[in-house]
Amino acid sequence: MIVGVVAIQGDFDRHLDMLKGIGAATREVRVPADLEGVDRLILPGGESTTVGLLMRRFGLAEAVQARAAQGMPMWGTCMGMILMARAIVGYPDQFTLNLLDIEVTRNAFGSQIHSFEDAVLLEGFPEPTLGVFIRAPVVSAVGPEAKCLGRYQGKIVAVRQGNRIGTSFHPELTDDNRLHHWFLSI
Ligand code: GLN
Repeated sequence: MIVGVVAIQGDFDRHLDMLKGIGAATREVRVPADLEGVDRLILPGGESTTVGLLMRRFGLAEAVQARAAQGMPMWGTCMGMILMARAIVGYPDQFTLNLLDIEVTRNAFGSQIHSFEDAVLLEGFPEPTLGVFIRAPVVSAVGPEAKCLGRYQGKIVAVRQGNRIGTSFHPELTDDNRLHHWFLSI
C-alpha cells in the first residue's frame, strides 16, 4: 500500500514522517502522474487558496477528484478539509474539490496567535486525542452525505463521508499516530 501526501505547500513532511514511522510506504504527490499506484491520499495543512490554485494549475485537482470517485480513501487535515469541502462560508469563489458534503468556516478560532492545543474526543476512539488547532476551520454545516465524528466546544471539528475524512486539527503534529493507523485501515 502506498499512501500519497499532497506536497505542494504546508506541513506535508510531518504527515510523511508519521506515516513512515508506522511503516507505511509514502509518495509525495504534486502532479497527476504521482498518483499512479497511490492507494490513499492525505491533504495536509497549509494555505487553502494557494494549494487550491496550484492543484488546478498542475491538473492535480481533477485527477484527485477522479480517483476519489473511484473510491480512493482520502483524509484532509485543516487546509485539506477546507479543500475537500463542498463550500466555504464567506468565500463563494474559492475553489474546492467538493468531496465532503460540508460547509466550512476558515480561521474559525481566530488568527495565528489564537492557535491552541486541547483534548478532542472522536467517535470510535475511547481516549481523547490532542487537537492542534492552527488557524483552524470548523464545519459549519453537515449535509446528508457526511456525518460528524467529533466536536470541540460544540463546534464540529471532524467528519466522515464513506472513506473520506476531514479534521480541523493536525494529528501529524502530535505523538499520537492513532488517526494515521485508523486511516490506513479504512
Ligand atoms: N487557515 C488556513 C486556510 O484557510 C488553514 C490553516 C491550516 O491548514 N493550518 O487555508
